[in-house]
Amino acid sequence: MPIDATQPYDDQNIFAKILRGEIPSKRVYEDDFAIAFHDINPQAPTHLLVIPKGAYVSWDDFSARAPDAEIAGFIRAVGTVARAAGLVEPGYRLLANIGRDGHQEVPHLHVHVFGGRPLGPMLA
Ligand code: 5GP
Repeated sequence: MPIDATQPYDDQNIFAKILRGEIPSKRVYEDDFAIAFHDINPQAPTHLLVIPKGAYVSWDDFSARAPDAEIAGFIRAVGTVARAAGLVEPGYRLLANIGRDGHQEVPHLHVHVFGGRPLGPMLA
């Protein structure tokens, strides 16, 4: 079920548990600001999720509240993850779902990184 992006942060959400190592994930990256791991239900040959270490519900919450250093660190981490996965050439796609109409299901900000095949035109 999609979430309401204005809800308070729930520290029992599945990505908070992955971040704390309470449930397993196939982690591919970690730095001071972010971790990245494989999506459990991949929609492309490469489908990674990058999440900030801070407690933010969505891109909206993050962009409104996070200190500049966390925003810079997270954006840099997304690029580093894609580069390390070998996606820069021939290219890849980033996606962040926000709230109900965006069909966000997990209430901890995550950026999807898709690649490994031609992804076709963007869905609206
Ligand atoms: P959203 O719709 O919130 O943007 O995407 C949530 C994503 O999280 C989905 O692509 C889903 O497959 C993935 N996901 C949900 N639960 C888990 C989990 O426990 N582990 C991992 N690795 N991915 C998950």
